[in-house]
Amino acid sequence: MNLRRVSKPIQIGSVTVGGSAPIVVQSMTKTNTRDVMSTIRQIKELEDCGCELVRVAVPDAEAAQATRAIKRGISIPIIADIHFDYRLALMALEAGVDGLRLNPGNISEPEKVRAIAQAAKERNVPIRIGVNAGSLPKTADPQLTIAQRMVDAALAQIRLLESLDFDLIKVSLKAFDVPTTIEAYQSIAQKIPYPLHIGITEAGTPRTGIIRSAVGISTLLYLGIGDTIRVSLTAHPREEVIAAYEILKSLNLRQHGPILVSCPSCGRAEVDIVKLAEAVEEQLIKISKPIKVAVMGCVVNGPGEAKDADVGIACGKGKAVLFKKGKKIATIQEKDFVRVLMGEVERF
Ligand code: SF4
Repeated sequence: MNLRRVSKPIQIGSVTVGGSAPIVVQSMTKTNTRDVMSTIRQIKELEDCGCELVRVAVPDAEAAQATRAIKRGISIPIIADIHFDYRLALMALEAGVDGLRLNPGNISEPEKVRAIAQAAKERNVPIRIGVNAGSLPKTADPQLTIAQRMVDAALAQIRLLESLDFDLIKVSLKAFDVPTTIEAYQSIAQKIPYPLHIGITEAGTPRTGIIRSAVGISTLLYLGIGDTIRVSLTAHPREEVIAAYEILKSLNLRQHGPILVSCPSCGRAEVDIVKLAEAVEEQLIKISKPIKVAVMGCVVNGPGEAKDADVGIACGKGKAVLFKKGKKIATIQEKDFVRVLMGEVERF
């Protein structure tokens, strides 16, 4: 794995993004931002599963004003997502948001960007320049590839902010197409010192979107690119946070909650491993400590994997061997598999 690209850290409320800070997991609410109580409730659900930054859509003045009450009801920093109308950014800043996301495809006039930068600087609030392949500036050169046009759009707004002596910048260049996204991030990573928010946009439902996001985000992280991630899914945002942590855990970049090792099952298994693993996974959601738990179907790889885990079971006909830190500690009956395994996890 490549060394992580060195970026200039920024502070979004209490959370550092970039530099040597851990790669930050973020998500976006799917509620109507004007509905303060529903939005706070959803953000609380996100906080509970480890979301560290949250973005809310700000489509109008009422939503911009609502961010004030939302911020009071939550514990993680809030970022206002602004398109088209720069005055909404000013209102959200006034309401106390911790970060802004601007799209250079629909707010690019220097005097509007200047007004936002000035207000953000007074409050020490960073701005994400969030380029999206689906909304590139109309001035983009059609001869260039989409990735190049995305990079150019970001660079133009970065230069504008820099000329205003504003450097609390974070950048994203998102497309649905994974190679395009990777090409764009690789290019900009060499050109600017600012932290990068990475993700694949409009990735789809969990079935396909998690894979698409994991391929794109993991490739970039493996190349050392990326300071904060968002998995965009057509689903409850909780799924985005869970998927984001699974990506980071797969690359050993973050520890967060349990890791479940389970075999795929096959004709050798004498218990229903699919059902058992699902039941254990469901119980593990409530556990926050980093612990490796194995559920294995038979004696072929079972004892090896189960012994390698912190706690594990290797199943046989009607019973299983329970391992803890590599040591066999008990033989358990099938009816007790989940209860006894989870008891060991709790005690670990
Ligand atoms: S551990 Fe056993 S049951 Fe599970 S996939 Fe491997 S051989 Fe099949």
